[in-house]
Amino acid sequence: MGIDGKSRRAVFLDRDGVINRAVVRDGKPYPPARVEELDVLPGVAVALERLKAAGYLLIVVTNQPDVARGTQSRTVVEAIHTRLASLLPIDEFRVCYHDDGDACVCRKPKPGLILDSARAHGVDLHASVMVGDRWRDVEAGEQAGCATVFLDHGYAERKPRKPDAVFGSLPEAAEWILARPSGATHEVC
Ligand SMILES: [Mg+2]
Ligand SMILES: [Zn+2]
Repeated sequence: MGIDGKSRRAVFLDRDGVINRAVVRDGKPYPPARVEELDVLPGVAVALERLKAAGYLLIVVTNQPDVARGTQSRTVVEAIHTRLASLLPIDEFRVCYHDDGDACVCRKPKPGLILDSARAHGVDLHASVMVGDRWRDVEAGEQAGCATVFLDHGYAERKPRKPDAVFGSLPEAAEWILARPSGATHEVC
């Protein structure tokens, strides 16, 4: 247990390109537009079960700016999450529905989604990990004080500066997380 009494560990998960297949156009990833397009990536269910069994809370933190842009509805985003929750042992979905112009505190790379969830669940952020496939995910995790894993799908965009680990899939990332010493907590910081 950390000196602040926070003992729970979490894996914060980006959604598109981490849990489900992102729709890639011109080298850039996009969310599925409909529940029918949702495709959970291979090995994700088993990887999440293993992390859960090891005591990690599983929290999805996702930017869905198409809602602010008017090209997607909150209802569809929520339906996608209902479907994912029926398939996977995810504890919570935290969503930023804003775009850059909204200057919110939750759009990654800002760490608001992670910080709010950690506060709600008593999570020790320094014993926790953020997994994502874009620089915004990794930098949000870093700002929150988590270890970070970048899933590199070779998108045509900037890469994160300094993730702690780089893999090609969530199952590989889960292996790395499970192999970390449970004392990987920074007790004093
Ligand atoms: Mg993503
Ligand atoms: Zn936001």
